[in-house]
Amino acid sequence: MPGKNKQQKNAFYFYMQELMQDLKREGRVFPGGLADVVPIAHPRFKALDDKEKERFENMAKEFKKRMRGQPGDAIRQDNVGNIIAHRRDDVMEYEKDREKEIKSFVRKWPQDLSWVAEKKFYFIDVQALCKTPDDDYLPVEIALVEFSMKEGMIKCYHQFLKPGSIPSGMRYECMSKSEETHQIPVEGHPDATSNYLSVQNSIENFLNPGGALSQYPPVFALREEWRKVESVIGLIRQNSCLGPRAAHIPVYELESLFIALLDHAGQAAPSKQYAVEILTSTTHDFQPGIKCNFHEELECQHCSLLWVRKFCFAISDAMVDYYNFEIKPRRHLPSRKVQQFQASVDSEANWVMSKPKSNQETSSSKCLMNVLFEVK
Ligand SMILES: [Zn+2]
Repeated sequence: MPGKNKQQKNAFYFYMQELMQDLKREGRVFPGGLADVVPIAHPRFKALDDKEKERFENMAKEFKKRMRGQPGDAIRQDNVGNIIAHRRDDVMEYEKDREKEIKSFVRKWPQDLSWVAEKKFYFIDVQALCKTPDDDYLPVEIALVEFSMKEGMIKCYHQFLKPGSIPSGMRYECMSKSEETHQIPVEGHPDATSNYLSVQNSIENFLNPGGALSQYPPVFALREEWRKVESVIGLIRQNSCLGPRAAHIPVYELESLFIALLDHAGQAAPSKQYAVEILTSTTHDFQPGIKCNFHEELECQHCSLLWVRKFCFAISDAMVDYYNFEIKPRRHLPSRKVQQFQASVDSEANWVMSKPKSNQETSSSKCLMNVLFEVK
C-alpha cells in the first residue's frame, strides 16, 4: 500500500532531509531515496545534542501545525461519528453563506443614517425540547419582535407551540432539557397551539402585513441558535400544509447585523465574539415584565420573548450615540435604564405595571402585535 509507507514527518525525517542534501553535496548517491539515508542517519541523529534535536522537533511541530485539518481528516471522525472534514466544510460553508447574505443586505442601505435608524428589523428566538435524529427540533415557544432604532420595539409576536410526538427513546432527554432550561412541559404549555397553519399565517402577517412587500424580510437569530431557528421555521412552514404558497422566511445572523450597524455608522467593527457578548448580556434579565407570563412567574430566563427583547435593548444601547435617535420608555430599554437617559421620566415609564391580561397569551391572534407592551 503506497500510502502506508509514507514517511512520518517527525524530527528524524527533517534531520534525514537535511543530512541527505549534505551527503549529496559530498557526491553520495541514494538510488532508494530517503530509505537509503536511514542507516546512516539513525546513529548520527541519536548522537545529536538536545539543542540540535530541538531544532528538528520544532520543524516537525511547524509542519504538523500547517497540515492540521488536512488529508488525515478526510476519514477522521469526531466522538459522535461525524467526519471532521465534513464538519469543517459545513462551518466554512456556513461562514461564507452568512457573509454573502449580510453583505447583500447592507449593500442596499443608503449612507443616510436616519434611513437606517428608521429601517425595521425582525428578531426571532425559539425554545425547543431537543434535536431529533432527523435533525429537526421540537419547538415549544416562539417569539418575534419588530424593531427600528428610531421607534424601538414596535410589535411582538409570542406563541407557545405543541411540540408534536416525541421520538421513542428521547423522552428523558426532552424532560431534562425542559427542566434545565425553559421548563415548558414536554407535552407543551397548556396554551400551546398545534395549529401550525395559524402560526404560519400569523408570522407572515407579522413580517409582511397584507403581503404588501414583494419579498419577506429576513429574521435575525444568534449564530448559536441559527440552525434551530431555521429548522423550526421550516417545520412550521411544512406543517402549515400551505405547500409552495407558504412564504419562505430567510434567517440571518444577528451578530453580523450588529457589526454591520456599527460599521455603517463609521465605527470600528468589533469581533463577532464581542457582538455576541453585548447581545446576550444579562443586564436586564431580572427586570420585571420583560418575559412572557409563564416565564415571569417561574423567574426563568429561557424565554423567547425575553431573548428577542434583550436584542432590542442591546442594539438600542450600543447604537444610540451613532444613529441619533431618542431613547423612549418601554420601547428601547427597560424603564430603570431609561431613567438614566432622561432627566425626568414621564408617566409612561411605569410600564412594568401595564402587564398583559393573562388571556393575551391564549391564542395566536391575540398574541400577535400587542403582547405585554400593548404598543401599536
Ligand atoms: Zn416565555
